[in-house]
Amino acid sequence: MTVLPSDMPVIYDAVSLQHAAASGRLHLLPDLHGHRPAPRWTEHVRGEVEDGAAMLKSRAWCQPVLDFAWLGAAAPDYDLGLTFRLQTLMNSLDDDDDKNLGEAQCMSAAIHTSAYLVTDDRRAYNFAAKRPELGTSRVKDFCHLLFDAAGEGFITRSEVDEAHDRVADCGRTMLCARHADFA
Ligand SMILES: [Zn+2]
Repeated sequence: MTVLPSDMPVIYDAVSLQHAAASGRLHLLPDLHGHRPAPRWTEHVRGEVEDGAAMLKSRAWCQPVLDFAWLGAAAPDYDLGLTFRLQTLMNSLDDDDDKNLGEAQCMSAAIHTSAYLVTDDRRAYNFAAKRPELGTSRVKDFCHLLFDAAGEGFITRSEVDEAHDRVADCGRTMLCARHADFA
């Protein structure tokens, strides 16, 4: 498990929050990171989750995120220029000009607040891991947090597997970027 300085914020993207809720393990976020300072999410991430909560097919794992008061106030965009530069770079990888804003805003906020980023979006994870301002030591996915939680004794190893199963039962695929390293 990577040990992080205890004063680093942790910023979650919309996908990792939805996977935490779908797994029934949202409370692991305060268990693991409750002592860390805000911000914990951004305005665009909150907007993405609100959009999901408005749709019947995703309401079950989006509404619990909106109801989860521990997340606190969603951070505004600290550095719009950086956010758009990151978005443009990410979009250039897949020829789509209207995507990745939430992910770019999370990364921009993580860079600005010296936070680490939790994302279950494969493109964002790989992109952030290669950014000199973030890198592999400052990006995790929700699977990584489940193994961190098992390492801390908050859940058992079999509950890590159950959490994966519950997310899959919602028709969603966890990133599991480093699952094989921990399993
Ligand atoms: Zn996994």
